[in-house]
Amino acid sequence: MRKQRTLKNEIKASGIGLHSGKKVEIALEPAKENTGIIFYSEDKEQQIEVSTKSVIGTQLATTIGKNGVGIGTVEHLLSTLFALHIDNVFIRLKGREVPIMDGSSAPWVYLIKTAGIVEQNAYKKAIIITKPIKVKEDGKFAAFIPSKDFKISYSINFNNSFIGKQRIDITVTEQSFIKEISKARTFGLLKDIEYLQAHNLALGGSLDNAVVVDEYGIVNEDPLRYENEFVRHKVLDAIGDLSILGFDIRGKYIAYKSGHDLNNKLVNELIKNRASYEIVGTPHREKVVEASVWKTVKEKA
Ligand SMILES: [Zn+2]
Repeated sequence: MRKQRTLKNEIKASGIGLHSGKKVEIALEPAKENTGIIFYSEDKEQQIEVSTKSVIGTQLATTIGKNGVGIGTVEHLLSTLFALHIDNVFIRLKGREVPIMDGSSAPWVYLIKTAGIVEQNAYKKAIIITKPIKVKEDGKFAAFIPSKDFKISYSINFNNSFIGKQRIDITVTEQSFIKEISKARTFGLLKDIEYLQAHNLALGGSLDNAVVVDEYGIVNEDPLRYENEFVRHKVLDAIGDLSILGFDIRGKYIAYKSGHDLNNKLVNELIKNRASYEIVGTPHREKVVEASVWKTVKEKA
C-alpha cells in the first residue's frame, strides 16, 4: 500500500479536441489529499468529480458529466494519472474535451514528470478483487480475477489483415506503463474515419494524433511506435476506464475485443457485486484481506 500523491507544480497545456476539432486549454493543479480527480468546466462553471457515477458516455471515447455538462475524451489523461499515481488533481478546462495531444499518453507523462510529483500523508485505498467477475456481449468479454498485482491480459481480433490478432500480457506499474504503454497512439480504420468525419465526429483527428490503417497497412508516413501498438493502445484506454473506480487495483483484468462501453459495464458490474471485492485503506487491513483471498483461491485450486 502506498501514500497518495499530487503534482508539485501546475501544468498548463493546450491542444485540439479529437471529436470537436476545437482548441482546448487545460490546467492541472495540485490538490489536497482525498480530493480525487476533479474536472472543472470554466465556460459552464461546473465541477465534475470523477467517479463511477460520473460516466455519461462510452461511444468512441469516455465522457464524464454532471448537470448536463459533459467533458469528453478523458481516458488518456485518466490513464496517465492512474499509472503515475497522481491521485489528487484539479483540472480546469476551457472547452468540452480533453485535448488529444499526439493520440497517446506520452505528452501527459512528460508534462507530469516535468511538473514534479509530491507524496501526501494519507494512504491510497485499494480495491482487491476477491472473486472472478465477467461481462460479455456480441463475442466480446471483459473480466476481473484475483491477482496480487494489477495485471492486464488483452486480446484484439480485427477484421483488418494489417491489425489482425494481437495480444499483450503486462503487470501495470509506473515504469511498465511509461515504457510499454504510454506511447501507443489512438488508431482507426480509414473507412471508419471517413464515415465519422462525414457525420461531424473525429473532426480533430489527423495523422498527427492517430494511426490510420487501410487494407494494406498504415497511412501515416512515420512508422509504428511498437510492433503491436494497437493492442497496447487498447490497454492504455482500459487503464483509463478502470481508473474511474478511484482505487488502486489488485486484480487481473482480462479482455477480448473490449472497448470503453464494455469496460464501463465491467466496472459497474463489479461495484454491484459486493461479494467480488473488498476495499482496503490501511496496510494492516490489506494484509488481512489478501491472506483470506489467497487462502480461498488455493483451497479451490
Ligand atoms: Zn484511446
